[in-house]
Amino acid sequence: MTIRRLSPEVADAIAAGEVVERPASVVKELVENALDAGARRVAVEVRGAGRGLVRVADDGAGIPPDQLSLAFLRHATSKVERLEDLAAIATLGFRGEALASIAAVAEVDCRSQGARIRLRAGAVADEGSAPPTPGTVIEVRDLFANTPARLKFLKSDATENAAAAQVVRSYAALRPDVRFELVVDGRRALATGGDGDRRAALAAVLGAQVAEAMLPVEADGLRGMVSEPRLSRGSREAIVLAVNSRPVASHRLQHALEQAYLGRLERGRYPVAVLDLAVPPGEVDVNVHPAKREVRFKDEGAMYGLVQKAVLAALGGSRVFAMPLQAVAAGTAPRVSDIALPIEPAPTPPATVLRPLGQVLDGYLVAEGPDGIVLVDQHAAHERVLYNRFLARLRGGPAPSQALLLPQVVELEPSLTAATTEHAERLAAVGFEVEGFGPGAVQVRAAPVETPPERVAEALVDLLSSLAGARPDDRLEQAAASIACHSAVRFGDPMDLTEQRRLLEELERAEDSITCPHGRPTRLALSAQELRRHFRRNY
Ligand code: ADP
Ligand code: MG
Repeated sequence: MTIRRLSPEVADAIAAGEVVERPASVVKELVENALDAGARRVAVEVRGAGRGLVRVADDGAGIPPDQLSLAFLRHATSKVERLEDLAAIATLGFRGEALASIAAVAEVDCRSQGARIRLRAGAVADEGSAPPTPGTVIEVRDLFANTPARLKFLKSDATENAAAAQVVRSYAALRPDVRFELVVDGRRALATGGDGDRRAALAAVLGAQVAEAMLPVEADGLRGMVSEPRLSRGSREAIVLAVNSRPVASHRLQHALEQAYLGRLERGRYPVAVLDLAVPPGEVDVNVHPAKREVRFKDEGAMYGLVQKAVLAALGGSRVFAMPLQAVAAGTAPRVSDIALPIEPAPTPPATVLRPLGQVLDGYLVAEGPDGIVLVDQHAAHERVLYNRFLARLRGGPAPSQALLLPQVVELEPSLTAATTEHAERLAAVGFEVEGFGPGAVQVRAAPVETPPERVAEALVDLLSSLAGARPDDRLEQAAASIACHSAVRFGDPMDLTEQRRLLEELERAEDSITCPHGRPTRLALSAQELRRHFRRNY
């Protein structure tokens, strides 16, 4: 065995591997450099899935000609000088490695402030002058041509293109003040206005329909937008979390966001979100990951609370699920956008009164409100009302219970029998009065007034399983959801007009009434305006 120092060439290739994993990493580093240079416009072009060409042009400060070759040396940076600087990094880059790493595994051409440099496999191939243009243009060709092992790890062209696009999309969503453009194989894939309007930027990135269903998040130290419950995705792909406009991966922040959607989205559904935390540079350590994907906070708990609270506040502005009527077929009638619509008076939320019209299709209530027609899923609606009520009791509210005419004996598994003692207070809080009844059974003497006597046994068993099985931080929510589910009117149960009216009133008053506690919609609105559009009553 012989120990020897690696040649610079090998050492560089190893270090480059950490920074430049795939074409998207090149895009990321070059876009970050452009933003650090104060660019207001960043144009990205990708060809051949990024192996052929990645080109980033910006209108930032540029690189002085006498420093152009310096920029491509490892550990050469203008952003950090002394050790203390590391404690408060305000730029996206700071390691001075990106340009060197990219140059080590590709052919690079860079033009700035009237000068030009070309490098191949880490060595300068050509230097000279270039026609002066604003900012900086960097072109990266033949990525990984000299490291065939890397090439083999690349995924399909479509996947690599998508990853590269995702980088630009994230930054475009985070920085509405910067004009982004992305061209993939000659086709324009993205263009934002750069006018500072985040909703407009999101419209460019995610589409107008998504942008329309986003709610602004505005708190001290947190900016962004999150989707209303009526808009969700089957994965976390449309969530961008950032610290000081740097996209980061953070399980804690992710959890804070998802926790705010508890009871508003179904299991397995995720919001669309762009959240940018403004943290004083001294409060966050960005130097914990070679690609700077992860960060460490001084006070993670405070960040968690900030995100959860601000998102909850934003969600307060959610609108009811509404029937989207498709625009009429082209050519047969004026387009919706051509029709001058009368201005609707804004609905005043306390004042909404729903008039029950009846029950249809086994379990939907039909009602008329000031703005149109509302269809209500009677079970989901009742579940929400009862869930809120039970949760309030579990958190310490009053507990009206009703003595059963005939006390019921309920058989329980040993773990659940134990739970009756352990959670005695919580059972009492929701209205259960339970006592031991020999081994493996309890006698129920009183139950919540809301629970129909014939469902007392199943409600109790489910409630006990929730109390015994849930994680402590959402135990009360789970318990409230299970007792609400068993106590609510079922889909298919007949309801007379008085019962319908009462449920509608309670629903209108209930908090978070847009969804049931499992995140399913409680009602669907068909607005008078949509109806007028559909029947063309606008002329
Ligand atoms: P870092 O960003 O960590 O400083 P890089 O290797 O990415 O390291 O870049 C090295 C230096 O080159 C930067 O510190 C910056 O001074 C300069 N630079 C790189 N790209 C640009 C650009 N697009 N505009 C202006 N300066 C740039
Ligand atoms: Mg950089």
